[in-house]
Amino acid sequence: MTREELMQAASDYMASGAFLETLARRVSYPTESLVAERAPQIMAYLTEEMVPSLQALGFECRIVDNPVAGKWPFLLARRIEPEAPFTLLTYGHGDVVLGDEANWLEGVDPWKVTPDGDRWYGRGTADNKGQHTINLAALMLVLKAKQGRLGYNLKLILEMGEETGSPGLDALCARYSDWLAADLFIASDGPRVVAERPTLFLGSRGVFNVELQVKLREGAHHSGNWGGLLANPGIRLAHALSSIVDARGRILVPGLRPAMLPEQVRYLLSDIALGTGPNDPAIDPDWNEPGLTAAEKLYSWNTFDVLAFTTGNPDKPAHAIPPVARAHCHMRYVPGSDVDNFPRYLREHLDAHGFEDVTIVTPDHCFTATRLDPSDPWVAWGEASIARTTGKKAAILPNFGGGLPNACFSETLGLPTLWVPHSYPACSQHAPNEHLLQSVAQEALQLMAGMLWDLAEQGAAVCRQREQHAATAIVA
Ligand SMILES: [Zn+2]
Repeated sequence: MTREELMQAASDYMASGAFLETLARRVSYPTESLVAERAPQIMAYLTEEMVPSLQALGFECRIVDNPVAGKWPFLLARRIEPEAPFTLLTYGHGDVVLGDEANWLEGVDPWKVTPDGDRWYGRGTADNKGQHTINLAALMLVLKAKQGRLGYNLKLILEMGEETGSPGLDALCARYSDWLAADLFIASDGPRVVAERPTLFLGSRGVFNVELQVKLREGAHHSGNWGGLLANPGIRLAHALSSIVDARGRILVPGLRPAMLPEQVRYLLSDIALGTGPNDPAIDPDWNEPGLTAAEKLYSWNTFDVLAFTTGNPDKPAHAIPPVARAHCHMRYVPGSDVDNFPRYLREHLDAHGFEDVTIVTPDHCFTATRLDPSDPWVAWGEASIARTTGKKAAILPNFGGGLPNACFSETLGLPTLWVPHSYPACSQHAPNEHLLQSVAQEALQLMAGMLWDLAEQGAAVCRQREQHAATAIVA
């Protein structure tokens, strides 16, 4: 079979309804990982649904306990071919957020797939069952086209706790690093920049959370007797915050800002437009660092936000000076930021500005920022494969704006990581009426089949090119 015939086979498969049938079967398992009582459904998704599907494609499967006691298990699978020159690792998650059945459109059940025009409604259609179902269907088509011989090894991690923060995933990668050893990572999750534009992202931003607290005394005191005599913690904290970030959202603490924007990242982002969707909120052009485009702000800069801020009781204000003020603050940061020292930079900044009374409570760094070097040969390879299939220039994002457990793959397993998302920004992921677009699924199936096909023909050469690259880098 030729590549053109493979594309036709992908389009025929979609038209036959077989893809929709598989997706509907997977969506019918209410795999809500936040609900302990869903254990039987979560196990059934692995044992009844995924293991037989993977075995039919020639995978050896094993369900392994989560290294963190009491957390959901993982399915590990691998498909080994004798003399295969390299190995691809992929990933998906079979768990979903809560169904939230009461709030969906009339007549739409989150545990069924309901087609409506271009939309296929159902919990998990976008995040992530639809996406890993597309990738496995692409594999099935390529295997059929190549008479069962892929030309490289393929390994898979299927997680059931992504929506609870991927507990144990990093420890799993460390524990099974030999079993999972690979040369390249390609997986699908999250949205494209816009529905029509194939997207490739190379990593993800990190997350840093911190609570700032001013506690001046025990208990509130009547403002008629004590106002003007007692310092107000809300006012103290507001001023402390305004010293960290200015009135236009610009971060003022040098240690919390990223290093300079690399020229190559600026170039990649030069053709990315944001906020063009019909339901997108209007972007505030004057917010955040002056001189950056919207795409640069989202994908290559750090942000500092206040998520919640209280003093006294906002629902029942009393004529009293409150004793405490608290602000829950949140940062998204890009690779190259010195996150390990964020708490120290904050402390030094607050002290230097006379805010010794502001306490830094529970600083917590929950996703690590990661990014594959945009000049890595795999990036150009992925871009060319997508162009060959779709005729479109993919949006290449140095990293995803949100958080992903990508460090497990890029750092712990040391792999070059390419993410090829099949969803779109208005997919209502994590909300009622989650859906996948049929038009995007159709294009994505061809695109993934094309990638898996091209990998057989070009993957070994790209691996060699990278080795030479690394060797010259060491000599230099
Ligand atoms: Zn999710």
